[in-house]
Amino acid sequence: MLPDLERLIQLQQLDNATTEAQRTVDAMPSRIKDLDARLAKSRAAVEAAKSGLADKKGERQAVEKSLGEVQARLSRFNEQLMAVKTNKEYTAMQHEIATARTEVQRLEDDILEHMLAGDDLAAEVEAAERALQTERTEVERERAALETERSVLERTLHGTSDERAKLTGSIGAAARRLFESVSSQRSGVAVVEARDGHCSVCNVRLRPQMFNQILQGTELVQCESCMRILYHDPNGGGARSSAPGPSR
Ligand SMILES: [Zn+2]
Repeated sequence: MLPDLERLIQLQQLDNATTEAQRTVDAMPSRIKDLDARLAKSRAAVEAAKSGLADKKGERQAVEKSLGEVQARLSRFNEQLMAVKTNKEYTAMQHEIATARTEVQRLEDDILEHMLAGDDLAAEVEAAERALQTERTEVERERAALETERSVLERTLHGTSDERAKLTGSIGAAARRLFESVSSQRSGVAVVEARDGHCSVCNVRLRPQMFNQILQGTELVQCESCMRILYHDPNGGGARSSAPGPSR
């Protein structure tokens, strides 16, 4: 194979790896945002559960206050019962007392229901707090993994620029210019594989004579449609599998 073509393939592989690494680094803020959002959601669930519990407690206190009032009324009635003078007054007072007792019973039942509901809500708060703790641990772990990944990628990106400069220096000026020109017009993908008589990126069918030239690999052949430099990999795969998304 033409030495320049071989180096251009290497250069493309290097650029593909760089693009991929850069894309991963660029996507990190959004991944960190997702982690923050997960944590915020768990926190909101705890707040909602706490607020439900507080509401239920407030309702119960209101019922307890009513109960206190009815009980006070009841004991007043019981005192007044001693002081009544007539049968009619006595009957009326008995009626008031019965009504108040029924009310006391109803409010006590109501309080019991509120207490049971309060127990359920307290359990919900505990469950939400446990879930938040789990989520917090998980998010911290993922954040640390992201930071490790980022520093590895940044080191890679840093090292790649030296490697690229060295490689570029070993390529003939005309081949280098062609690469840079196609690369800048084709989103950084200048060298791609020709496979089964087609350009593997834009998929155009190559003329048989052109495909033969590519098979020989003794000169730089460009796709007539996307202008990318084509090569043949006898093992298949190659630059295509690591090429960042096809762009025409
Ligand atoms: Zn093409």
